[in-house]
Amino acid sequence: MSFTLHGLAASNGIAIGQAHLISQATLEVSHLVISPRMVDKEVARFEAALEQVRSEFAAMKSEMGKSPTDIAAFIDLHLMILADPELSEVPQQIIRERRCNAEWAIVQQMEFLVAQFDQIDDTYLRERSYDVRQVVERVVRELAGRPNNSSVKIPKGTKGENLIVVAHDLSPSDVMAFKDQHFASFVTDVGGTTSHTAILARGMGIPAVLGLHNARQLIRDKETIIVDGTRGVLIVNPDVRVLEEYELKKSQIEIDRSKLKLLKSTRATTLDRVKIDLLANIEEPSDVAAALESGAEGVGLFRTEFIFLGRGDMPSEDEQFEAYRKAVKAMQGKPITIRTFDLGNDKHLHSEDTIWGRKRDNPALGLRSIRLSLAEPDSFQAQLRAILRVSKLGKVKILIPMLSHAHQIDQTLAALEQAKSSLRGGKIAFDESIEIGGMIEVPAAALAVGLFLRRMHFLSIGTNDLIQYTLAIDRSDEQVSNLYEPLHPAVLMLLAHVISTAEKVNVPVSMCGEMAGDPKLTRLLLGMGLREFSMHPSQIPAIKQKVKQSDISELIPIVRRIMRLEESSKIQEQIERLNN
Ligand code: PEP
Ligand code: MG
Repeated sequence: MSFTLHGLAASNGIAIGQAHLISQATLEVSHLVISPRMVDKEVARFEAALEQVRSEFAAMKSEMGKSPTDIAAFIDLHLMILADPELSEVPQQIIRERRCNAEWAIVQQMEFLVAQFDQIDDTYLRERSYDVRQVVERVVRELAGRPNNSSVKIPKGTKGENLIVVAHDLSPSDVMAFKDQHFASFVTDVGGTTSHTAILARGMGIPAVLGLHNARQLIRDKETIIVDGTRGVLIVNPDVRVLEEYELKKSQIEIDRSKLKLLKSTRATTLDRVKIDLLANIEEPSDVAAALESGAEGVGLFRTEFIFLGRGDMPSEDEQFEAYRKAVKAMQGKPITIRTFDLGNDKHLHSEDTIWGRKRDNPALGLRSIRLSLAEPDSFQAQLRAILRVSKLGKVKILIPMLSHAHQIDQTLAALEQAKSSLRGGKIAFDESIEIGGMIEVPAAALAVGLFLRRMHFLSIGTNDLIQYTLAIDRSDEQVSNLYEPLHPAVLMLLAHVISTAEKVNVPVSMCGEMAGDPKLTRLLLGMGLREFSMHPSQIPAIKQKVKQSDISELIPIVRRIMRLEESSKIQEQIERLNN
């Protein structure tokens, strides 16, 4: 049966392939023997988990309202499976008889049931084993106290190109883990369009739809799916006519992309001959190839933390040196801006927590990024020394994320001085005139930009976080994604203030957030005075084309008028006109 799901358009393009359901890794559970006095408690824990999942299913069904009845029927089936004594009662007997943990009991029973299903001749009935697995996964996740956590385990030898990863959630480290598998696309139930997961999808140049709510529950393994990442739509089991229509659209997009690639060796110069610098954002050294291939003039943002996500401990200075060395060498003399670790919000070295175990309820406002680096001086020194050491091998700049206070900038500069003098002491060469820049990601930093201009060589505006903190919208929460508005007048005021203040004192300012890679916004930003844009490599050709078709002298008065508007919808309208 064919059905359509709507989510958030996280990464453009069309993919057609088979669903590859990512297991929540919960079915690999440990066997624990419990004491006789704990048995009742364990049974109660099992019942509570069942009840929680049951009410989630019920809520999902009522949320669907008038949605297609086949989807409702699907949820009903899962409710039935959950209520079946084979799954709701037999595991309780297993807990009592074998004195084992609830996770183990339900997985044992599931395996028994699945083995029985596998012997059935009827395909329809045999396929119900998928449903049993899905329901059990959900219960086990609940038992583990991590209903939303996922862990990607890709079967070895699987060919990615024809597969569409379907997951409840994917953390940035999950995506990094399967980056080399070259999947056609991925879709998730949760996540916002500027979450790091979405950014990675765009960086990989694959279509993605996030915030689908129940895709993981509604889609079966191996079903055919069309992902329309531009519209945020998923079509499951499309009929032949729809499939043909999308195949045509897909090849049209491929033709357009290859036309844009022809711009690679041309300069990004406006019609009135203003030279614009287009740089790439990268997550690991191997991304340099795509950056150069796209015609980037350098790397404007190297998000170093991505190389080490999920590994469990802090990389040593030498390990970091080696990783940065690879990237700097691959750049063949082109400039590269290396950002110090931005760990502690959604990006962790440890899969469950930070390596320092300081998990908090509100990590975006907590000990994240430079705050974490300053709190761990030894680790920070290791990173600064590693970056300084590679500065001798190419054109390297240092970028510091999330700064907000004057004393923080001073502490950071002092830490850099300390790293430099320890290298001098050890007679280790580095670029003595290396530049250090600050990211403008916090409204306080944008408003008090003078603090930065007096202390730093350059600025880079991180619009992803700047929007999140200005509008108080969690960038990875799909429930509030409709309020995440890059064109909110408050955001535009901050951008204009930073760009024009920096221009007055001749401090270079770049933009490396997702706004820089959105061709619909290029003219607005050019009119505000932005001359350096850093984005995922796949976006560079489209932005270059926009730059080449723009006349800044014409844009300046129009953008000034736009800046007087107070409503995002009116601003949006004017920007559409600016692009026509
Ligand atoms: C930003 O916040 O805009 C940015 C570029 O940093 P990140 O997306 O890595 O948080
Ligand atoms: Mg940021």
